[in-house]
Amino acid sequence: MAKIPINIVTGTLQQEEIIVGIDLGTTNSLIAIIHPETKKPVVLKEHHSSSLVPSVIYFDSSQNIIVGEAAKAHLQTDPANTIFSAKRLMGKSYTDIEQHADFFTYKIIDDDTERLVKVQVENKFYSPVELSSFILKELKTRAEHILKTPVNKAVITVPAYFNDSQRQATRDAGKLAGLDVLRIINEPTAASLAYGLGMQQNEEKIIAVYDLGGGTFDVSILKIASGIFEVLSTNGDTYLGGDDLDRAILSKWTGDLNLTSADLNKDPRLSQALRLKAEEAKKHLSFNEHFETTLNESALSINRAEFEELIQPLISRTLNSCANAVSDAGIKKEEIDVIVMVGGSTRIPALKEAVSEFFGTEVNDSVNPDEVVAVGAAIQADILAGNNKDFLLLDITPLSLGIETMGGLMDVLIPRNSKIPSKAGRQYTTQKDGQSSMRISVYQGERDLVKDNRKLAEFNLAGIPGMPAGLPKVEVSFLINADGILIVKAKELRSGTEQTIEVKPQYGLTDTEVEKMLLDSITHAKDDIAQRALVEARTEGEQILSTTEKFITKNSLRLQPGELMNVANAMQALQLALTMEDKDLIHQKTEELNEISRPFAERIMDEAVSEALKGKTIQ
Ligand code: AMP
Repeated sequence: MAKIPINIVTGTLQQEEIIVGIDLGTTNSLIAIIHPETKKPVVLKEHHSSSLVPSVIYFDSSQNIIVGEAAKAHLQTDPANTIFSAKRLMGKSYTDIEQHADFFTYKIIDDDTERLVKVQVENKFYSPVELSSFILKELKTRAEHILKTPVNKAVITVPAYFNDSQRQATRDAGKLAGLDVLRIINEPTAASLAYGLGMQQNEEKIIAVYDLGGGTFDVSILKIASGIFEVLSTNGDTYLGGDDLDRAILSKWTGDLNLTSADLNKDPRLSQALRLKAEEAKKHLSFNEHFETTLNESALSINRAEFEELIQPLISRTLNSCANAVSDAGIKKEEIDVIVMVGGSTRIPALKEAVSEFFGTEVNDSVNPDEVVAVGAAIQADILAGNNKDFLLLDITPLSLGIETMGGLMDVLIPRNSKIPSKAGRQYTTQKDGQSSMRISVYQGERDLVKDNRKLAEFNLAGIPGMPAGLPKVEVSFLINADGILIVKAKELRSGTEQTIEVKPQYGLTDTEVEKMLLDSITHAKDDIAQRALVEARTEGEQILSTTEKFITKNSLRLQPGELMNVANAMQALQLALTMEDKDLIHQKTEELNEISRPFAERIMDEAVSEALKGKTIQ
């Protein structure tokens, strides 16, 4: 089915509309377009400012939301209210990021569960989706200001290693920012497109994309054949980047000045000034042999050879990742045809040489490495707009396909604009102890609540063996075959019970109806996401209430009367909050109940362990 351009502002069909490409980065974000007249990529920027918009959000004391350079200034002065690296939280639970919790200077709710993380600023709770939407909204506003036209459609890039839920979270962030996300594409794919790779029909190539940004490193091996990019492997280190190179210089200078790390900890101003000088030195040394400056009347200097020696271990680490990526791709280094360099840190000459030597071929670095991903996203956007006549548009699904989950929410398995054929799968579990069947309801559409989408089919997977809630594993898989038929299969993995159904999603659906469904999803995006957040907060609150209840019943004798009273009060407060429409209040009460009951749970666990040990005699 063809693309349907809609003007979101007027609600009418529109002939030509600009689709922007967005690089939503961990440290910086950018927006680019293909110029309608020159047909050349243009990275958008306001006069005299940089095209890079720092991915930083600041909440000021009146809860105004400030994004970009102005927000970055608050990283030092007001860290608790300044959010950076929200991308690292996308689709993650606290358990996923626990290991790196120190990295974040703002409050991330530690609920010790698999649930998606939330960030607390004053008494408000934000999901990473909302935080990313603030950045996207800022980019949209800037683009509209520069282009003097509404911007409603975008292609957004994500790292190749992003999983399904991280991609969906990125789509949701776009929707919340008022953008119709036509496609999510991989950053290395975008970078390759920026170098014109994959534009020829019969081209077959293996590409390595080396991406060293401010805080992350990744390398991807891609295979391109008949215009389709396939990710063969990815590798890297999500906590290695340009910042580490700055730190290497900083520690040299700390030594030169006879300072200790304790001195720096005591004097955050000095340490910040040194860090900024170190970054300046690093950038300078990409184009010059020597750097010198003064700080508080002390001379500081470094030359290129010293810098190269300092960063050698870091470069080696990235090359190890490259070697792993090559072997995971099941290829030999020699089979790689092209190397593409991405990220500001790849401007360092010694690094380019090391990468080139490792792969045994010249690297591609002619496109600005900060802008290359956004440029590629703009090229993809132009292809989707149908402006690039040489490029074949594959058959796509016009609307998302998914199933109903807890609280009537739509869980998308195949997002709209996916290529046909396409397949996806996800695991679900039961809500009640001993639940023996599960209803699978299949929906089509873009809204967050299934009641607003189109129901395609429903069936019951019976014969799930009796188990406590949460234990059965039901794998639901969606396959759209080349004829556009959707085959839905549900299988309980322990017992092997399975059931399949086939539907034709487009049957009985006119273009006008599809158009209306798309338009509705954008106009209702804000309400929908708020509704989803409320349902999710309620589900979480209800689950915590029920586990606490079970816990109290089981352990009432082990708790002091005062403790019991505190828990009962917190439970009551949460119960009351659940009857209201305020997600922040629900989160707050859930958090309070968690805080109160966690120490008991830990104590009782310890007691149980020591009792168990007491019962054993050591021979
Ligand atoms: P990105 O996340 O891709 O925007 O990368 C930003 C990183 O690139 C930061 O660590 C910058 O310090 C670094 N960077 C920018 N310009 C240069 C340069 N000329 N030489 C070395 N590193 C640079």
